[in-house]
Amino acid sequence: MKHYGTSYVMYLLCQQSCWRLADMKGRVLVTGASVAGVTAAWWLARQGMPVDLVERVASFRDGGQNVDVRGAGRAVLRRMALEQAALDLSTSEYGTDLVDSDNQVIARFGVDEGGDRGPTAELKIRRGDIARLIYDDLGDGVDARFGDHVAGIAQDDAGVDVTFASGRPGRYATVIVAEGVGSSTRELVFPGENDPRWMDMTVAYFSVPRRDHDGDYARLYNTTEGRGAILKPDREATTLGAYIGMQGKADGTQDWDSDRQKRHVRERFADVGWEMPRLLDAMQATDDFYYDAMRQVRMDRWSNGRVFLTGDAAWCPTGLSGMGTTLAIVGSYVLVGELCRHADPMAAARGYEAVMRPYVEEGQSLPKIVPRLMWPHSRLGVGALRTAARVVSAAPLQKLVTANFARDAEKVDLPDYPLATGRAAEPVA
Ligand SMILES: Cc1cc2nc3c(=O)[nH]c(=O)nc-3n(C[C@H](O)[C@H](O)[C@H](O)COP(=O)(O)OP(=O)(O)OC[C@H]3O[C@@H](n4cnc5c(N)ncnc54)[C@H](O)[C@@H]3O)c2cc1C
Repeated sequence: MKHYGTSYVMYLLCQQSCWRLADMKGRVLVTGASVAGVTAAWWLARQGMPVDLVERVASFRDGGQNVDVRGAGRAVLRRMALEQAALDLSTSEYGTDLVDSDNQVIARFGVDEGGDRGPTAELKIRRGDIARLIYDDLGDGVDARFGDHVAGIAQDDAGVDVTFASGRPGRYATVIVAEGVGSSTRELVFPGENDPRWMDMTVAYFSVPRRDHDGDYARLYNTTEGRGAILKPDREATTLGAYIGMQGKADGTQDWDSDRQKRHVRERFADVGWEMPRLLDAMQATDDFYYDAMRQVRMDRWSNGRVFLTGDAAWCPTGLSGMGTTLAIVGSYVLVGELCRHADPMAAARGYEAVMRPYVEEGQSLPKIVPRLMWPHSRLGVGALRTAARVVSAAPLQKLVTANFARDAEKVDLPDYPLATGRAAEPVA
């Protein structure tokens, strides 16, 4: 008798459990080829489902700065046997220093103090690196297309008809929308249902050439008028990740093109010292530029018939939470698990909701006052922030405060779906 490994037996078991999804006799469309989309496509393809992965921009997006993968997000990567590869790509950040205009350290928050719940997560990786890691591992069964997007969509009891902007039509058993915070397909299928919560914080993200004095700690500098920046060590010996932050109500700049956004940042930071002239020059030169006014996506439901939302398109918690990428990985895994478990999309939606809703609420539970406190406007406010940081950074207070910096990344009862991975799971780290 032929001997089959555990993963092959799991695969056969899963073929049983996934008959319901396969029974829909059709392809699955995943829109958006970033973290949430590639994770959903990865799990679907491993269950033998044919998948179309459609991305709006013309080629795979490798850009983006550091994102955190915490708790259950790491557990899903482990099930995909990709956790170690992600750790190998992890940026080597030891912690965060709050600095003054001469780069003198006012307060230091080490990575060890908060563990996986501190301001610096143990698995900190560039967005493009984690997305590419999963994308490159998609294997057969995923037809990835770039430079296209959903222009029209209608569904009946048996499937979903899609018209793409390219003019191509398609009919799908299920559509998974993973298009990020500004998802246009979400607006087609769930018009007016997103009640965004603006976090009063706008951030420009880009890469900066490294210099000799750049160390292994991230540096955070604040000045008046809600302005500041963070410089973060990168895996590359040659670059750093830069984040320029502006606290205040969203003013529509998030909808401008990137040249206009860069001009706007230059004007607002023209009088700022510290490393700012260097950052502004680097920003001007880079193509790796991402700019957004932070807002949470708040939806009462994440599915409409056979169309499901996942990742930031469903529940963006914003970069302030440190949970966006974790929720995207966990959410896509749970969605595929529930689709495999239930023949009826409504039942899958209920299962998805039951697992993810409490976790998402935890991820989004950041008080709106936090950006205002962390990015002060007056000299007095900047002084108060520095004094408070100095006090808090002294042990043992640091442990207490930093351990509660992030949302609880473990606060989900992650189901152990009998999904095939085609490989043995990684040992628990
Ligand atoms: C280029 C880029 C850089 C980023 N940089 C950072 C960063 O430095 N720090 C940080 O904290 N977060 C960053 N983010 C956000 C972060 O990736 C997400 O918060 C998180 O990982 C959840 O991922 P997601 O896949 O749900 O959404 P996203 O990562 O936002 O991905 C959405 C994807 O869908 C595509 N898309 C959009 N509309 C359509 C459409 N109609 N049809 C098809 N495809 C569409 C987008 O091009 C994108 O590839 C970045 C996102 C992007 C796209």
